[in-house]
Amino acid sequence: MIIGIPKEIKTHENRVAIQPGGVVQLKRNGHEVLIQNNAGVGSGFSNQEYVDAGATIIDDVEEVWKKAEMIMKVKEPIAEEYPRMREGQVIFTYFHFAAEEALTKAVVDSKCIAIAYETVEKSDRSLPLLIPMSEVAGRMAAQEGAVYLEKPKGGRGVLMGGIPGVPPANVLVLGGGVVGVNAAKIAAGMGAKTTIMDINMPRLRYLDDVMEKNVSTMFSSEANIRRMLPQVDMIIGAVLKPGAKAPHLITRDMLKEMRAGTVLVDVAIDQGGCFETSKPTTHKDPVYMVDDVVHYCVANMPGAVPYTSTMGLTNVTLPYAVALANKGWKQALKDDAELLKGLNIANGTIVYRDVAEAFEMEW
Ligand code: NAD
Repeated sequence: MIIGIPKEIKTHENRVAIQPGGVVQLKRNGHEVLIQNNAGVGSGFSNQEYVDAGATIIDDVEEVWKKAEMIMKVKEPIAEEYPRMREGQVIFTYFHFAAEEALTKAVVDSKCIAIAYETVEKSDRSLPLLIPMSEVAGRMAAQEGAVYLEKPKGGRGVLMGGIPGVPPANVLVLGGGVVGVNAAKIAAGMGAKTTIMDINMPRLRYLDDVMEKNVSTMFSSEANIRRMLPQVDMIIGAVLKPGAKAPHLITRDMLKEMRAGTVLVDVAIDQGGCFETSKPTTHKDPVYMVDDVVHYCVANMPGAVPYTSTMGLTNVTLPYAVALANKGWKQALKDDAELLKGLNIANGTIVYRDVAEAFEMEW
């Protein structure tokens, strides 16, 4: 099969859908890989590394799309890319259709085969192609929060690990899922006194067993959150209510109970945010203040660390890509119920219920 990798053109997107090691694997399976000129540069991979791995570098993006039987991307196609999608072509990428009607219509009209990373689902209901990005965002949340705790950045001027004789920072993590546990690991690793709150008791029991000594767990309730507010230096929002907007666990009136310079990092901002005062920010201008409380609400946190994010993403997408290329999409989906869940739109028909329902379309 001919696999095409276009350069990502969405603003501030430096990831790429395949790294040179992935090219080697596809070549070993007898496939041809076309990489658009400089597609990997933002993630630290030169054209030469791809050539050494066996790929062909193509200057013209139109040619990549025209020749490829399967396109692998990171972000959903944007308007400029809509006319390049074509009948029968497999497109394997993050799509997030339910949030974008124009994209959904364009993909339906193109009659391509859209397999979405975000809906590939294992039998335990976990989403294997989303997990690495949650891991990145969680770890970054503590790291960024630590920077904004510094006085010149607007924070309280507290060092995460304290020093002998001076206590460490006090960090509260709301939500003990993938983002939360990764945030807590880094915060605790830096020496902060860390508390994870969740509403899932089996999860809290598990975390109580496995986390470091300076991490404690607490049931998530308004009363418990309010009790913590006057003592915390940083709150990391990492809750997810599947299929719904994030609940506002920190309301505007609660900011007054915090000390000036407390840092809020809202990782759940892509689902609307779990603090009432959150609004999406960018890496260029990541924070703003409300009532002397620092708000960090970057909606695309993994975009700041494209090397790690690309490696993490391609580790998990590659086995599926190899199966799609080896067997063709129909057989690959027949053989793998997890990958089948990724099929959203095929030959002009929406086959994923949530996408159809979002726009009251046929499915
Ligand atoms: P997850 O499903 O692994 O974990 C969510 C946790 O929240 C679960 O353990 C759940 O029990 C808990 N929860 C639900 N309601 C709660 C409440 N009221 N109080 C406390 N805990 C509650 O999800 P995840 O992968 O950790 O993702 C968390 C959020 O981070 C999602 O909104 C996701 O989209 C977002 N995210 C954002 C970025 C970014 O760049 N900003 C990147 C990756 C993920």
